[in-house]
Amino acid sequence: MKKIGILGSTGSIGTQTLEIVRNNPDLEVCALAAGSNAALLEEQIREFSPGAAALWDEEAAAELRLKVKDTPTRILSGMEGLLEIAQMDEMEVLVTAIVGMIGIKPTIAAIEAGKTIALANKETLVTAGHLIIPLAAERGVSILPVDSEHSAIFQSMQGENRERISKILLTASGGPFRGRRRDDLTEITVEDALKHPNWSMGKKITVDSATLVNKGLEVIEAKWLFGVEPEKIQVVVHPQSIIHSMVEYADGAIMAQLGMPDMKLPIQYALFYPDRRPMQGKRVDFFELSTLTFEKPDTQTFRGLAMAYEALREGGSMPTVFNAANERAVSLFLERRIRFLEICDLIQGAMENHKTMARPCVEEILQAQAQACDYINGRMSR
Ligand code: NDP
Repeated sequence: MKKIGILGSTGSIGTQTLEIVRNNPDLEVCALAAGSNAALLEEQIREFSPGAAALWDEEAAAELRLKVKDTPTRILSGMEGLLEIAQMDEMEVLVTAIVGMIGIKPTIAAIEAGKTIALANKETLVTAGHLIIPLAAERGVSILPVDSEHSAIFQSMQGENRERISKILLTASGGPFRGRRRDDLTEITVEDALKHPNWSMGKKITVDSATLVNKGLEVIEAKWLFGVEPEKIQVVVHPQSIIHSMVEYADGAIMAQLGMPDMKLPIQYALFYPDRRPMQGKRVDFFELSTLTFEKPDTQTFRGLAMAYEALREGGSMPTVFNAANERAVSLFLERRIRFLEICDLIQGAMENHKTMARPCVEEILQAQAQACDYINGRMSR
C-alpha cells in the first residue's frame, strides 16, 4: 500500500490524482488539503477517509470540523495545517497540487521530513528552486515532475547520461491566441482566455497558458529539475500537444514522450515511478492525426516567455518577482480589474522596479513577493 497526501485536492490536478487512486486499490490517501472548498473536501473525506484534512480558510475549516465530526478525520487549518499534513508520519508521497507560492513552505517541510514529492506546483520551484533542489539532494528525496512537459523530459532521460544532453525541447501548444498579434489582443475577455485548445486546467494556469507566462515558468522549472542552463532550453510551439517534450543528446538523437493530452498520465507516472501502470483512455492514432506541426514562439506578442528568460538569466530573487507579479496580475485579470495585455505590462514594471537579491532565503523570497504585490497595488491605486 502506498500512502499519499494531496495539497490542492479539490483542484484540477488534485481531483485527477484522486481518480487515479480510485483505479489503483494499492494507493491510500492519508491526507488532503484545499483552500476554501469545504463542500468538495467533505465529499473527499467521506470517500477516502484520510487521517487528516486541512483548509486554508480558518472559518471554512471550523464549519467543516462540525460537519465531519462523525468521521475519524482530523480537520486542520491555515499554514500550520498544511505544514502538519506535509510532514505526516505515515505519508510516503506528497502530491503538491496547490496553486501559487503558498506551496513553498509545505514543500520544504515535506522534503525535510523525507517525503517523495510529486510536484505539480511549479511556482514553488520557480521561486525557491535554489533552496529546494539542494535540500532534496541532501535529504535523498526524489522530486518527481507532474507537469506534462517535465514528465516527458524526465521520461526521455531514463537510462541516459545527463552529461550528454545537448538541448531540452520544451513543447507548447501556443494557447488560445496563437497566431494573433498584440493589436488583436486588446479586447480579450476572461472567458476568451479561459478557453484552452487542448487542456482542461485550473483558471490561473489556463490564463498563464494564454499569455505564455506558463511556458516561461516551465523553462525556469526545467532549469531546476534537470540542472540545464537557459540557453539549452528551447521552446517549440506544437499546437497538437501530442509530443509532450523532447531531449536532444550529443549525437543528435532526440528522445521524446508522446501521448494524448491527459494529465492523468504524468500524475500516475509520478505516483508509480519507475513502474508504468495500465491506464484507460484514448490512444494516439497516427493515421487519424496525419500531421504534427512546429513553430517558433512569438515572443514579441507574448512577452511573458521572453521576460521569464530574462528573470532566469538575472537569477536570485528576479524569478520570484516575475512569478509573484504574474500571480497578482492574473488574479486582477480574473476579477476583471485589468485587461489581458496589462498582465505582462505589470510583470515588466515589477521586474524593472526590483533590486535583485542574489540568493534569497525563504523569508526574502516572501519579501520579494510582497514587494511585487505592493508595486502592482500601488499602480492600481494611481
Ligand atoms: P486549481 O486552481 O484547479 O486548484 C488549486 C488547488 O489549490 C485547489 O485545490 C485549491 O483549493 C488549492 N488551494 C488554493 N489556495 C490554497 C491555499 N492557500 N491553501 C491550500 N490550498 C489552496 O489548480 P490546478 O490544479 O490547475 O494547478 C495546481 C498547480 O499545478 C499549479 O501550480 C499549476 O501550475 C500546476 N499544474 C497544473 C496543471 C493542470 O493541468 N491543471 C498542469 C501542470 C501543472 P480550493 O478549491 O479550495 O480553492
